[in-house]
Amino acid sequence: MAEVKVFKSIMERNDTAAMKNRKLMNGALCLNIMSSPGAGKTTLLEKMLMAARKKIKTAVIEGDVATSNDAERIKKYTAPGAVYQIKTENFGGGCHLDAKMITNALRKVGLPRKKYDLIIIENIGNLICPAGFFLGEDKKVVIISVTEGDDKPLKYPGMFREADLVIINKVDLLKHVKFSMRKVKENIKKINSRTDVLSLTATRMQDVKQFTAWVEKQRQNTAG
Ligand code: MG
Ligand code: ZN
Repeated sequence: MAEVKVFKSIMERNDTAAMKNRKLMNGALCLNIMSSPGAGKTTLLEKMLMAARKKIKTAVIEGDVATSNDAERIKKYTAPGAVYQIKTENFGGGCHLDAKMITNALRKVGLPRKKYDLIIIENIGNLICPAGFFLGEDKKVVIISVTEGDDKPLKYPGMFREADLVIINKVDLLKHVKFSMRKVKENIKKINSRTDVLSLTATRMQDVKQFTAWVEKQRQNTAG
């Protein structure tokens, strides 16, 4: 009983901070991007920002257990001061981001003083607990790559159930791996029939346009 109570109060505090984050975001569309490690989150962001940085004023919050490697990669494609790296080892090695960490990060990228069109949160590579922590985002994006199993949506239903968009990445490797596009799409549908699904190779600029178009559509929907 006591454990249940503690858990409940942690989640309540998280949700209160998440609602505060929404105010700090100052009208920007916020995406929470989640996947297992190495599925291609940072690569997708790099390519998207490379093409769209003039059109979409973006802030990026990077989450990792350690290192600022991803923030360093992303900084090349954003305005000065628009990227912040959270290292969860400073919070005891956490395997997910929580809303309180995001409150601090939003201030670090200049909010609510600055005005962004888009705020991207790259969550810690982990398919389990990041899905349980609302950060104040508008949409959740889950990436699965074809080097993982096509049964991942069934194994990690919590994450896929929450998704507004599932991206199937690294489709250029399909001929080298045992991964069925038909099966993965069926499995996604079993868990979550309302999510959008895109398949692409994040290293190809041409492919990433699909994702940029999806982001634009969400911006129009939230603005209107
Ligand atoms: Mg990354
Ligand atoms: Zn965790």
